[in-house]
Amino acid sequence: MAGLDLLPALIDLGAVLLLALGIKGLSKVSTARSANGLAALAMALAVLGLLIQQPLSPQAWLWVAIGTGLGGLLGLITAQRVPMTAMPETVALFNGCGGMASLLVALGVALFNPGGSSGLVEQISIVISVFVGAITFSGSIVAMGKLQGWIDTPGWTQSTMRHSVNISLAVACLAGAIALPGDMAGAPLWLLVVASSLLGIGVTLPIGGADMPVVISLLNSYSGVAAAAAGFVVGSQMLIVAGAMVGAAGLILTQVMCTAMNRSLVSVLFGGALGGSAPVGGGGEEAGYTRITSCSAEECAIALEAAERVVFVPGYGLAVAQAQHALRELSKLLENHGVEVTYAIHPVAGRMPGHMNVLLAEADVPYEQLLEMDTVNPEFPRTDVVIVLGANDVVNPDAKTDSTSPLYGMPVLEVDQARQVFVVKRSLGAGYAGIKNALFELPQTAMVFGDAKAVLNGLLSELRSMGVGKKVAA
Ligand code: NDP
Repeated sequence: MAGLDLLPALIDLGAVLLLALGIKGLSKVSTARSANGLAALAMALAVLGLLIQQPLSPQAWLWVAIGTGLGGLLGLITAQRVPMTAMPETVALFNGCGGMASLLVALGVALFNPGGSSGLVEQISIVISVFVGAITFSGSIVAMGKLQGWIDTPGWTQSTMRHSVNISLAVACLAGAIALPGDMAGAPLWLLVVASSLLGIGVTLPIGGADMPVVISLLNSYSGVAAAAAGFVVGSQMLIVAGAMVGAAGLILTQVMCTAMNRSLVSVLFGGALGGSAPVGGGGEEAGYTRITSCSAEECAIALEAAERVVFVPGYGLAVAQAQHALRELSKLLENHGVEVTYAIHPVAGRMPGHMNVLLAEADVPYEQLLEMDTVNPEFPRTDVVIVLGANDVVNPDAKTDSTSPLYGMPVLEVDQARQVFVVKRSLGAGYAGIKNALFELPQTAMVFGDAKAVLNGLLSELRSMGVGKKVAA
């Protein structure tokens, strides 16, 4: 019987270990897929461990089954349908669900289980769970709306007025939190819920442009903190440990993203939008360019054929076009022709951390050919040809030279140092930050307009018709 008593604790321990292994495995492309499976197994074990500890009525079992079935089905459909390019929105939505779950757990205990909210630790945990859970939920939904292009950045949020609004909301949260222990199920609880939810909106709404990756990872960290607090509320060690791990991992990722963009967390949260009030998510108008040179795939192929050293710069557009396999094929053709080929990877290229690494790994691009920004930047002056494929913000030289640019200060790939640059994109439309790109007007730059996959296939056939493949065979 003692063994049976130990079973839930052993299951929890197994789940925690699997979760830790899962998070560790996610740090490498080669182990990421199996690590994801391990983490999912950990979650299933955690739910199992919780269920066998609770004496549940048949009616409660029915609710658990309905919730698990519906949640599982929604997760399955989402995972199958969401394209890779919409991952940040999906992650924001999942973070929001995590925040909402922690908020509901705390509300459930505060409203319906007075015994569970009598101790000081439980009361503090309920306050944290409600506060962080509500901010995470509303902030994540706003972030998702902005990433999808459903929500614009209102003008007033770019003025100092937003600080007054947010400070008033923070004071209201504090008042609710202080009064809560005296009246767990009354007005202070609802004050805390409403003020925290509005604060989540107030803090996230002004953030735009290229700062969004930082916000998403910060909200991810918050969802972990809210889950850990909910763990204290219901006395679940598993939830405390898992929440703390997610909170810490999210915080580390936030720090990495801030460093990559040369921004401090304080300036992201309180300094207004990097990218100004420009709409996030790309698009933008094409006006304002006067010195554009465009060329055909044939002219680009001639330059590639004559080059000794070529660097490809993948960006969000490469992922949209799903052109990674065509790119790999082109690289192989050039390598066989004796050209030295590498890929320049910017830390925030694409729409999620590591997006380009995952995309290129899908096409079996050797990992050692992927050069990080600090490694590849000194190499550009000795590069014959750079092909920018659906990248825009991460190659914008204004980030280095124009202090009025919203991107100013963000480290970029210095492709303007190369001898010749071809930019492959469909139009002169802006990137994610919604601004002009000075690279397009430089004398060494030529635009190759078109979908990245179509242009790469065009380059492949041009090079083959020039006999590049045949020379190898000979
Ligand atoms: P950008 O969003 O700056 O630019 C992408 C470019 O791709 C667009 O200008 C678009 O131009 C072009 N494009 C779109 N579809 C195609 C296609 N089918 N074929 C060819 N080109 C196409 O991308 P970057 O990768 O340079 O920069 C990433 C941006 O996203 C940064 O601002 C970063 O801060 C932000 N971000 C990054 C996240 C991350 O974690 N990595 C998360 C959220 C945001 P056109 O329409 O003319 O074709």
